[in-house]
Amino acid sequence: MHESVRGSGVVARSEQGAEGPPHSVVVVGASHGAVHLADQLRFGGYTGALTLISDEAHLPYQRPPLSKAWLKGEVTPDSLVLRTADHYRGNGIELILGTTVRRIDRENDGVVVQMRHSDGSDRTRTFDRLVLATGARARRLEIPGGDHRDVLVLRTLDHAHRVAERVGSGPVVVIGGGFVGLEVAATLRGLGIEVTVVEAGSQLMGRAVGAGTAEFLLAAHRKMGVDVLLDTTPTEIVVDGDRIRAVRLADGREIAGTTVLVGVGADPRTELAEHLGLDCERGVVVDDRCRSSDPRILALGDCAVQEGCDGVRVRLESVDNATEQANAVAATLLGRDVRGRPVPWFWSDQGAWKLQIVGLIGGNTDVVVRTDPDKPHRRVALYFEDDVLVAAECVNAPADFVAVRSALARGRLLPRDILVDNTVPLKKLLTAVCAE
Ligand SMILES: Cc1cc2nc3c(=O)[nH]c(=O)nc-3n(C[C@H](O)[C@H](O)[C@H](O)COP(=O)(O)OP(=O)(O)OC[C@H]3O[C@@H](n4cnc5c(N)ncnc54)[C@H](O)[C@@H]3O)c2cc1C
Repeated sequence: MHESVRGSGVVARSEQGAEGPPHSVVVVGASHGAVHLADQLRFGGYTGALTLISDEAHLPYQRPPLSKAWLKGEVTPDSLVLRTADHYRGNGIELILGTTVRRIDRENDGVVVQMRHSDGSDRTRTFDRLVLATGARARRLEIPGGDHRDVLVLRTLDHAHRVAERVGSGPVVVIGGGFVGLEVAATLRGLGIEVTVVEAGSQLMGRAVGAGTAEFLLAAHRKMGVDVLLDTTPTEIVVDGDRIRAVRLADGREIAGTTVLVGVGADPRTELAEHLGLDCERGVVVDDRCRSSDPRILALGDCAVQEGCDGVRVRLESVDNATEQANAVAATLLGRDVRGRPVPWFWSDQGAWKLQIVGLIGGNTDVVVRTDPDKPHRRVALYFEDDVLVAAECVNAPADFVAVRSALARGRLLPRDILVDNTVPLKKLLTAVCAE
């Protein structure tokens, strides 16, 4: 999932300085990026105080299964945790849960963090260095009835409990044909639930995948029995008594449903950064070392927007991005070099369809599609810029995905004329190019 915007400003680029690693680091947020960062700091030899603060009450957990295995009842909250409580204790990582950071101020060379625990108690603490890993917040539906209790979003484990509670209580209308909406739709359909997806755009996953891949997956969803409506806008959640009866569309039609799942994207949580006066543009703007416009404050993951060498600012919502940026933050705090940003990748499981994307597709229209008549569920789209491979979308083609990803990660220039040969397996073609 990505958003891009042409950069307008210059990000501060001062170096860490000669003072060495900080005595205390606080990370606001405790999810994929923050937990990986804490490990990287400890494994990298950082011995100072390390605190993660989360407004969620649960031990940090994996989010991707929430729209897949969780809804199928295949995982428990315990099996979702990223690390055990013993891991944090054993590595001197202080985890403050159920606590919202309400305000941060700079003081001398550090920051003063004001927090409120869910029991209402307030605390203020001072730290040397601050990392913002505040992620993103699911967008809500601003239409009449959009605030009904059975109009749900899916971002957190608490949300996932609510969605699971509603499974089996009638037809579901999913608003938004992005990754989360489609994953939920496919999962629920697999459980035998009647599902309609209402998408305002003319293609599914419009922000993130090419038209051909979107068409392919549209057909897959329809084959699964998901009713997908494109170019369709919801205008009202129709409520009878205290229950949802339907979703009304702009053309007057009503789609029957008793639960509505809203998957219309997520907004980066930048309020703390904005209060601190940091440069924000649909995310906290960071440089290649993940430093914000105040180089002593860093940001990573879904809340951060990073400028690439082409000057385009991109905000990626993926586990890979949160993890890679956590590596960069750890290196910066430890005063080490940041290794070049590996090519980004992402996956989305939609029922039996596994989509894996490597690279950023951007506005590329030069695409080569590889299919196999013996494997109709499989499709690979290769994207080229100046006849060189820059990205790929692989559906049910994990071996091709791994081959492309590792070739791109090694910085190999993969020419178009070699890769178009549909008769030779992609892995074989790539192995030959990489061996040269
Ligand atoms: C249902 C679902 C399915 C997904 N599937 C995939 C997938 O298949 N593949 C993939 O690559 N990615 C997937 N993602 C995206 C992936 O989970 C995110 O990119 C990743 O979680 C980002 O990690 P993060 O550390 O940046 O932030 P987040 O995971 O968003 O965590 C940020 C944390 O900070 C907390 N926080 C924010 N502000 C404050 C504050 N002021 N005080 C205290 N705490 C605060 C938040 O409550 C949250 O717990 C999925 C996401 C969802 C929701």
